[in-house]
Amino acid sequence: MTKEEAKLLVKIQEIDLETERVNHRLKKIEEEVKKLKEELEALLKEKETLLKRKEELENLKKQLQEEVKEAEEKLKVTEEKLMKVTRDVEYKALLREKSKLEDKILKKSYEIDQIEEELEKITKEIEEKVPRIERQVKEIEEELKDLELEESIAHRKIHEYVQKREEVKREIPEHLLKFYEENKKHFEGLVIVPTEDEACAGCGIKIPSVLLSKMIKEDSIEQCPSCGRFVYYKL
Ligand SMILES: [Zn+2]
Repeated sequence: MTKEEAKLLVKIQEIDLETERVNHRLKKIEEEVKKLKEELEALLKEKETLLKRKEELENLKKQLQEEVKEAEEKLKVTEEKLMKVTRDVEYKALLREKSKLEDKILKKSYEIDQIEEELEKITKEIEEKVPRIERQVKEIEEELKDLELEESIAHRKIHEYVQKREEVKREIPEHLLKFYEENKKHFEGLVIVPTEDEACAGCGIKIPSVLLSKMIKEDSIEQCPSCGRFVYYKL
């Protein structure tokens, strides 16, 4: 392999490693976005549940107040009739009616008191929780915006790498490209590596000194006797 070919292999290898790194990050972003969206949904639901409960209680209170008002009006009419009635049977019936209405008013008023107590509690809960929820929602929305931006940049990068890879690939001799593609996975992405302190940077085994001197003297690219990766001393 010539030095030029080695440089091209290094180049395509760098593109592939970088592509893998960006794809890995994209996957992480996807997971993060999913998690944040779930958190966001839970927070919004918590807020909605609180507000909805308050609204339900307010409506119920209004309804009960109307019922009390209606009963009070009926009571007033009944009391007026009682003043005028002469027959005993009618008088008794009106008395029963009066007592029924008074009971109803009492019962409904008690229910209103209960609802008011609950309303006070939930209003306090809303005052405590909703600002925190809204703060968290805002934070999550900002995080999501950042992640979306990062995601679009990553996609653009991947697109660039695909194009660059095609350009580099065209210049690499077929047999070398074949070797690279076939061994890429086995060598965990590192098909061609430099020497590092006289060892193969791929597997870490010392290059035999005879081979190393040949590499230095002849400026050649060899295969690591231990792992089989291409090794260069200098490019
Ligand atoms: Zn090696």
